[in-house]
Amino acid sequence: MNAYLNLENLTVGYGAHAVIEDIGLQVKKGEILTLIGANGAGKSTILKTIIKQLPPLKGAVMIEKKGIADYSFSELSKTMAVVLTERIRPELMTCREVVAMGRYPYTGRLGLLGKEDEEKVAGAMRAVHAEEVADKDFNATSDGQKQRVLLARALCQEPELLILDEPTSFLDIRYKLELLSILRNMARQKGITVVMSLHEIDLAMKISDRVVCVKGDRIFCEGSPEEVLDEGVIRSLYGIEGGHFDPLFGSLELPRAEGRPEVLVLSDSGRGIPIYRRLQKEGRPFAAAVVYRNDQDYQVARYLASEIVTEEPFRYISDENYEKALSLLDECKEVYDAGLSIGECNARMAKLRQEAADRGKLS
Ligand code: ATP
Repeated sequence: MNAYLNLENLTVGYGAHAVIEDIGLQVKKGEILTLIGANGAGKSTILKTIIKQLPPLKGAVMIEKKGIADYSFSELSKTMAVVLTERIRPELMTCREVVAMGRYPYTGRLGLLGKEDEEKVAGAMRAVHAEEVADKDFNATSDGQKQRVLLARALCQEPELLILDEPTSFLDIRYKLELLSILRNMARQKGITVVMSLHEIDLAMKISDRVVCVKGDRIFCEGSPEEVLDEGVIRSLYGIEGGHFDPLFGSLELPRAEGRPEVLVLSDSGRGIPIYRRLQKEGRPFAAAVVYRNDQDYQVARYLASEIVTEEPFRYISDENYEKALSLLDECKEVYDAGLSIGECNARMAKLRQEAADRGKLS
C-alpha cells in the first residue's frame, strides 16, 4: 500500500508504562481511519504520539516516509492540524482570533493576517457555522461552540493530515452530522487524511474507511467497518454483558425483560417497535408473533422479545407458526394489536386477532 502515514512497530505509553504495543498501521492519503475502544483503552495515547506530544516508547511515526522526529515544529504545523479534547483557555481571545491561530504557520511570528488569510478564517468559520460567536470571548462559549471553533482553527490551517480526539463529543446531532460531512468532503475532495477517535460506533461505521479497535495492550482488530464491527467484536471490545448492539444500524438495545411472556404483540411494518420498547421499559416480558424476517419489527423483536415466532418473507403463515402463535396467545394475559396490514400471505394474523378478541384479551 502507498501509505501516507505509517505507524511502524510503534509502542505508545507514558514513561516506562507501555499502553499499546507493536502497532503497525498504514493510512493512505485521503483515508479516514477511526480508533474505537473503551474508556482508557489508549486511543488518545496513540493520537498524542502521532502528533509528537508524546515520544514513542518504541518504533516510529512516519509521514510520507519521514519520521516525525525529523519534522521541525514549523513543518509539522503546516502538515498536520490537531483537535484534542483537552480544552485550551486562551486569555481574552475572541473565537475569530482562536480560529486565526490556524493561520500562524503561514503568517510569520507576528501573526499578521493578509487578505487571503482573513478569507480562509472566515471560510472555516462559515463551514462549521461559528459566525455567530466570531466576536465572543472564546472562554465564554459553550462546549459545543468551542469544539466547532477549534475545528475551524484546524480547517483553516489547511493540513494534509487532520488528527481529532473525540471531535463529536460535545456536538448536538445537527453539528455531529455536519462535522462528519465536512470531514468526508475534505478527505474525498482535498485528499486530506483523517485519523480520529470516536465513541459513537454508528457514526464510526458511517464515516470511516477503516476502523481500528483498541483493547488491552494491542490493536484488537482493524479493517473496513463492515468487516470488523459485528456484535461479537463490539461486546468483547467494550465488555458488554447485557443488551445488544446491532451492527447493521449501529443501534443499541437494552437487555430484554426476562421471564415467560405476559403480553403478545401482533404487528408488522415496524409498528410493533414503540410497543416493544415501552414493554421493555416497564420490565414486562412479551412475545412477538408472527413476524416476517424482512420486517422492521423483526430487527428489534429479536433482541427485546422473550419469545418470537418468525416467518420467511412473502410466505403464507405456516400451520406450525400459527399454532405456536396461538399457544403464546393462550399463555399471555394481554394481546396488543399494533395496527396490522392484512394481506393474502398474512391473512392468519386477522384470525389471531379475532381469537384474542374472542378470549377478551385484545387491548
Ligand atoms: P477515553 O475514551 O476515556 O478518552 P482513551 O482510549 O483515549 O480513553 P487514554 O487517554 O489513551 O485512553 O488512556 C490510556 C491509559 O493511559 C489509561 O489507563 C490512562 O489512565 C493512562 N494515561 C492517560 N494519560 C496518562 C498520563 N498523562 N500519564 C500516565 N498515564 C496516563
